[in-house]
Parts: sequence; C-alpha cells; structure tokens
Amino acid sequence: MTAPLIDPFARAITYLRVSVTDRCDFRCVYCMSENMTFLPKKELLTLEELDRMCTAFIGMGVRKLRITGGEPLVRKGIMTFFRAMTRHLETGALGELTLTTNGSQLARFADDLFAAGVRRVNVSLDTLDEGKFAQITRWGRLAQVLNGIDAAQQAGLRIKINAVALKGFNEDELPTITEWCAARDMDLTWIEVMPMGDIGNENRLDQFWSLKDVRAAYERAYTVADLAERSGGPARYVRLEETGQKIGFITPLSHNFCESCNRVRLTCTGELYMCLGQEDMADLRAPLRDHPGDDTALRAAIRAAIEHKPKGHDFDYSRQQPGGQMSRHMSHTGG
Ligand code: SAM
Ligand code: SF4
Repeated sequence: MTAPLIDPFARAITYLRVSVTDRCDFRCVYCMSENMTFLPKKELLTLEELDRMCTAFIGMGVRKLRITGGEPLVRKGIMTFFRAMTRHLETGALGELTLTTNGSQLARFADDLFAAGVRRVNVSLDTLDEGKFAQITRWGRLAQVLNGIDAAQQAGLRIKINAVALKGFNEDELPTITEWCAARDMDLTWIEVMPMGDIGNENRLDQFWSLKDVRAAYERAYTVADLAERSGGPARYVRLEETGQKIGFITPLSHNFCESCNRVRLTCTGELYMCLGQEDMADLRAPLRDHPGDDTALRAAIRAAIEHKPKGHDFDYSRQQPGGQMSRHMSHTGG
C-alpha cells in the first residue's frame, strides 16, 4: 500500500462512491427526464477497468466502496465486478463493500451480493403507495421493489431505506413509512432534494421539503433523541424512543457538513469528482487506458486530484432560486 490520501484540509479520503452505469430502469422525476440520452458503451469503464480503478484506490487507503449509478444492478455482468472485489474484503484491505439501488433487481441478485461479501444495502423508496410510486419513478413497479427487499432480507442483507423528502408528495406518509421500516427492522434516511441536472418541467423549489420540517413532524409524533454518530458524510441521526429506530437526515443544502467529508465520487466514465456540489473533476480514464498493466500514472493522477479537493459546496436555496445548480445529473456522479 502507498501513502494514504489526505486532502489539503487534512481530511483522509477513505470512502469511494463508484457509479458503474448512467442507465436506469426507472425515470424518477427528480433525477432524470423521461427521454434520457445515455452514454455510448465505449465511454464506460469496462468491468476490468472498474476493478483496476477501485483496486488502486483501495491500495491508497480507501476502506469503503459504495457502488451506485444510474441503477448499478442493470449494468451487464456487474456480479463479476462484485465478486472481484471480494478479494479485498478477504485481505482486510477493504472494510465495506456496499451499494445503493432502486431495488428492482434485488430479488435476482440478493444471494449473489451476500455471497460476494455485501452485508448492507441502501434501497431508495419514496412512497409505499402503488400509484404514487408509479408517478414518481415513471417506470417503476412498487411490488417488484417490495419483493426485492423481501429477498434481500431473506439473504441476510441489512437494508436501509432512503426516501427523498418531497413536499406535497410523501409528507403525509411520514408515519406510515416510519412504522413500516420499524416493523421490518430497517433504518430510514430522509434526503433533501438537490438541484442536479436538467429534469424537465419540475420546479425543484416546489418539491423542496426542508428536513427541518421533517424533523419537526417527527417531534410532533415521537420522542426524538439526537445521536452523536457521524458517518463522515452529510447524514445526521436521531433515535425515536417509541420504536427504537434510527432515522437519518441528509441535508446537503441547509447544513454544512463539508468539514468532515471523507469521500470522492467516480463516474462510470472514470471522472473523479472531489465534491458533489462542485464542477471540478479529474479524468482518471486516460491515465488508466494509456498505461495498461501499470498503475503508476493512475496513482499519480488520483493523488493530484485529491490535492484539489475543495473545502465545500455551493448549493444554496436561501435566495429562493436554486443557486449553485449543478448541470450534471445525480445518475452521472452517482447519488
Ligand atoms: N438507482 C439507484 C437508486 O435510486 O438508489 C442509485 C442511484 S440514485 C442517483 C442514488 C440516490 O440519489 C437515490 O436515493 C435517489 O433518490 C437520490 N437522488 C436522485 N436525484 C436526486 C436529487 N435531485 N436530489 C436528491 N436526491 C436525489
Ligand atoms: Fe434511477 Fe435511482 Fe435516478 Fe431513480 S434515482 S431514476 S432509480 S438512478
């Protein structure tokens, strides 16, 4: 192993999120437009290149790998990649291999994921109402996702539900979703909607449901205790005394979490984004492809990129317009 990755603000980079595809079988309204143009295949890192890339990061101190997308489980042959990462779990170089998924393919892959060493999975689910689910995902079917969650739990995977907080959409479901998660022993995290990508006619300020208000809704119904726990990311946690459940709040817009940021994001084309809220990125595909079989240039490019990790992001809704709006889609950087 070479020296660990430390950025200019003395933050150790130990967490890599990797988007393995920009494609998806859903078209969630806050994430994609209905008619997305996806990247040509040759632009994507191959499964072997993804392996080389992740292995280089692990060699430089990355302990946690989260596979995302687009929908990671629609990438052809993705289980080959997961199985390849198992070797790093076995040596202890990698502490955790995990993924974020819409759940549509979990029934098919849950056992394989467990066998590859995955133990925890984040499933994105914003509503338990079939009609509303079809409306928000455009192409998704709730029953398929619920089957996937069942299969994952049966396979021994621990599930955390991620729900995007959407004003006038799932506000009324807060108790239902919370009790459903409690009954199934699943943690729950609410995410503030972020200004990412051109998603058509939806007005994001209309969708914005502040997590301050979500928290207030919990306080009206439950006894809420703050937890000191930090994940190095934008999530803050509370415990509901009545259910014993841990509830997370991801508030990139209304809170500044950047001082403890331990993560970077790799896109499916091999661009490294040092911050979700900044355009600055480094191309790692060229040093990878130009030097097959030798990672010296790749490692140098990774180190140079980390030296440019910015102090923080520029998202700001306070002036009633989506300031700091990002032109790229969440499915590009990987949520
Ligand atoms: N397809 C997978 C899924 O849905 O879990 C993984 C990729 S998806 C881009 C990752 C997460 O980003 C999901 O939880 C999704 O709800 C969230 N997301 C997408 N667009 C968002 C936005 N504009 N604001 C906040 N969260 C968003
Ligand atoms: Fe697909 Fe996930 Fe984006 Fe929904 S949030 S469109 S499931 S990538």
